[in-house]
Amino acid sequence: MASYFEEHNCEPGRGGALLELARTLLSGQQLDLGLVDFSDWDERLPPPAARHAVLSLPTVRVTPAQAAKGLKCPVCLLEFEQDEGARKMPCEHLFHSGCILPWLGKTNSCPLCRHELPTDNQEYEEYKKDKVRRQQREHRLECLHGAMYT
Ligand SMILES: [Zn+2]
Ligand SMILES: [Zn+2]
Repeated sequence: MASYFEEHNCEPGRGGALLELARTLLSGQQLDLGLVDFSDWDERLPPPAARHAVLSLPTVRVTPAQAAKGLKCPVCLLEFEQDEGARKMPCEHLFHSGCILPWLGKTNSCPLCRHELPTDNQEYEEYKKDKVRRQQREHRLECLHGAMYT
């Protein structure tokens, strides 16, 4: 009998959907994000990264060791050349400027690992703070519950 995992090993990798979106963006296809009426940030793409955050991303040189390992830009899947300039995200992921800049103009997170850059969007920044508060509240309730029933 085949195990559950053998039958369900088609799960897409983490961040796959975002990368897919990034490539759609680069291929010049229009994404009609404006048409979708999301009422909650949990359901929609976060806003663009703040301009200052994007401008302050360092440009690094691809080292011979990285080039030898065949390090690729996760968006376009082309291997970096030795000494080529690449933009480094705070999560240490490297991208071509031409790949990551248009992406960050749409949404604030790394297409590979979803690390978020700050945004200029007040509403979204409030939502992020609120989310932390909500999590803390839930955590306190759990502790309270644990204290009452042990
Ligand atoms: Zn690229
Ligand atoms: Zn990343």
